[in-house]
Amino acid sequence: MIIIMKMNATQEQIDTVKTRVEELGLETHLSSGEERTIIGIVGDKSRVVEDNFIRMTGVERVMPVSRPFKLASRDFHPKNTIVNVKGVEVGGEQIVVMAGPCSVESREQIFEIAHAVKEAGATMLRGGAFKPRTSPYSFQGMGEEGLKLLAEVREATGLPIVTEVMAPADLPLIEQYADVLQIGARNTQNYALLKAVGRSRLPVLLKRGMMSTIEELLMSAEYILAYGNENVMLCERGIRTFETYTRNTLDINAVPVLKELTHLPVVVDPSHAAGKWSLVGSGSLAGVAAGADALIIEVHNHPERAVSDGAQSLKPHRFAELMQQIKGVAAAVGRNV
Ligand code: PEP
Ligand code: MN
Repeated sequence: MIIIMKMNATQEQIDTVKTRVEELGLETHLSSGEERTIIGIVGDKSRVVEDNFIRMTGVERVMPVSRPFKLASRDFHPKNTIVNVKGVEVGGEQIVVMAGPCSVESREQIFEIAHAVKEAGATMLRGGAFKPRTSPYSFQGMGEEGLKLLAEVREATGLPIVTEVMAPADLPLIEQYADVLQIGARNTQNYALLKAVGRSRLPVLLKRGMMSTIEELLMSAEYILAYGNENVMLCERGIRTFETYTRNTLDINAVPVLKELTHLPVVVDPSHAAGKWSLVGSGSLAGVAAGADALIIEVHNHPERAVSDGAQSLKPHRFAELMQQIKGVAAAVGRNV
């Protein structure tokens, strides 16, 4: 962090700032130019509140020099992280497609969809058993019964399971069944939950909050990494904007920005970004073209009867067609599926 003093700052003002920094146990490095003085600060800044310095007389600006995220930063870790989920590698050359229903609804439903997406080329199965619904009167998920069905269908198909965890208290149960812990968009900044999954041995799919900046998403990933879990995948799933035609706005820029800033794999969720099945294909292809390492797509055998997110779910035959197009775009950007 550096403190830039005003042009007319007096020596006394400079000394007061310097003393205050040193009182916090930090070292100062002064650079006294012809026009102004800049005070560089090094050391543990966890107790430093930038705003407190802005209020001091003679201070013009306070600027962080390093990125606020460290473990997630590519500066710190230049090589791509590859997250291995039971042999399925996310972040390598191959683009991974995770597919399945929004919610697990019944044995027939999850088995039929799992077989269909596997047949089409998906290598992981998604399905929620604990659902974050806007209304308390909407279907809340099958809970443990849903998790048991997911574990059974994994046994039958070999597809690893991605499922959402909403509360630290549910984690021990979900860990018994899941292969990837999904943190939903409504929980991106639930720090107690981030710490809890940070202590887990299972990989985490961290979704971007609908009102989170890219930096906030990376700070959330930093929590998980700082608590000891290195296997984090970041997911762009659309953010809220003034546009109302789609459920959210797919921030396609987030993909190359994240690839620049971090070594963690990037996943695109075109389903929640669009809210309409007819737009899911273009979002998927755009995600792959932009450099995503994986896609997570909602598929339902009877979308018109789905208990959640039917409007954005692809029917299995459309998903199979999309997989062919994904292969084409992947090849064009030097990847495979
Ligand atoms: C989901 O994946 O079904 C879901 C609820 O996603 P999000 O948290 O991105 O809304
Ligand atoms: Mn959903």
